[in-house]
Amino acid sequence: MTLDITNAVETRAMTAREHAAAVDQLGAFPTATIEAARKLGMLGLLSHKEVGGKGGTLRDAATLIERVARECGSSAMVLTMHFSGTAVIEAHGDATTRREVAAGKHLSTLAFSEAGSRSHFWAPVSTAKADGSSIVLDAEKSWVTSASHATAYVWSSKPLVGSEASTLWLVPNKTPGLKVSGPFDGLGLRGNDSAPVHAERVRIPAHHRLGDDGAGLGIMMRTVLPTFSTLIAACALGLAEALVLKTAEHATGQRYAHLPTANALADLPTVRAYVARMRLQVDMAKALWSDTITAIENGRADAGLRVLEVKAAAADTAAQVADTAMRVCGGMAFRKDVGVERSFRDARASLVMAPTSDQLYDFLGKAVCGMPLFG
Ligand SMILES: Cc1cc2nc3c(=O)[nH]c(=O)nc-3n(C[C@H](O)[C@H](O)[C@H](O)COP(=O)(O)OP(=O)(O)OC[C@H]3O[C@@H](n4cnc5c(N)ncnc54)[C@H](O)[C@@H]3O)c2cc1C
Repeated sequence: MTLDITNAVETRAMTAREHAAAVDQLGAFPTATIEAARKLGMLGLLSHKEVGGKGGTLRDAATLIERVARECGSSAMVLTMHFSGTAVIEAHGDATTRREVAAGKHLSTLAFSEAGSRSHFWAPVSTAKADGSSIVLDAEKSWVTSASHATAYVWSSKPLVGSEASTLWLVPNKTPGLKVSGPFDGLGLRGNDSAPVHAERVRIPAHHRLGDDGAGLGIMMRTVLPTFSTLIAACALGLAEALVLKTAEHATGQRYAHLPTANALADLPTVRAYVARMRLQVDMAKALWSDTITAIENGRADAGLRVLEVKAAAADTAAQVADTAMRVCGGMAFRKDVGVERSFRDARASLVMAPTSDQLYDFLGKAVCGMPLFG
């Protein structure tokens, strides 16, 4: 990571820290943090230098998101979906859109999940119909992060023709016929604006197709999944890291006044053992996370397996570590000012984001047993 990216990461993390509590309490989009990212050129981090981007690596983006997630899960989630969408735009978008992303003028996201096929993102039931030089889209998208704030959605539908699973499109969010169904009011990641989006006879130019008709599943697996899995793992591990640090701080700072010596929470061997397990779990998952990125960078034969593993490992680690943090920090952990309960709520999300942990265990089992992932 170059010095200017390292400095930008720290600046952005500080902005995220300043606004995180309000973002959570109000369920407000983390505008200040995303604007700071835009000004620092971070929205174009994964854009190639030839279109004016930073030409950063997946590891750069993962490092940024892990650091931001320690301060604000919602900001890290918005960035995760932005980089996941821009990976598709970089690979299949036109030069104008790529330049807009690189210049920070375009906030991206994925609109894959649907009310019909739910977490089975690989099987959209929404339609795309050709009408002259236009495409007409109809859909009930169930969750779109940054729904009201994204410039355009990377959108899945059934293909125009043929029996393949899907086709991808770039759908500007101001297109007539699109309707965002209200603000997001959820348990965690409360500022990520992940709302349902309804599309009724939404007309886009045919050249807004991303990749070939019917090529959607291949792009999801080859381009989206490595980026999304690594970055949502970064989100989960940033939350988990913050939980380890806050728990250790709480355990060493809180005391029993009636005990003359050894009166800190951390003087209890039980508490120290819990903290030790938290540290160990996070470090093990981080080692896998780093190795996954190395496997992707080097095109290693096991990269596909690692990509499936890393999201499941990071999500489970974050949820378990969050549970332990709530236990170790006692009744105090229920209070917002201690700062543990927000990360606890935020950490639940990566378990159920598709591919969900349970789906990943099924995919992993199939991969290890030499079976096809789908079918
Ligand atoms: C905060 C947040 C932000 C999100 N942002 C986006 C976004 O930007 N874009 C987007 O496209 N989606 C987004 N999603 C949606 C997400 O990816 C999932 O599609 C969604 O959470 C699935 O919820 P559901 O209730 O429909 O799950 P269901 O499909 O009803 O699943 C219910 C349970 O069944 C299990 N299950 C389902 N299928 C299998 C299987 N084959 N094997 C084993 N277990 C299975 C699941 O693991 C889960 O535990 C977001 C979700 C959240 C929570």
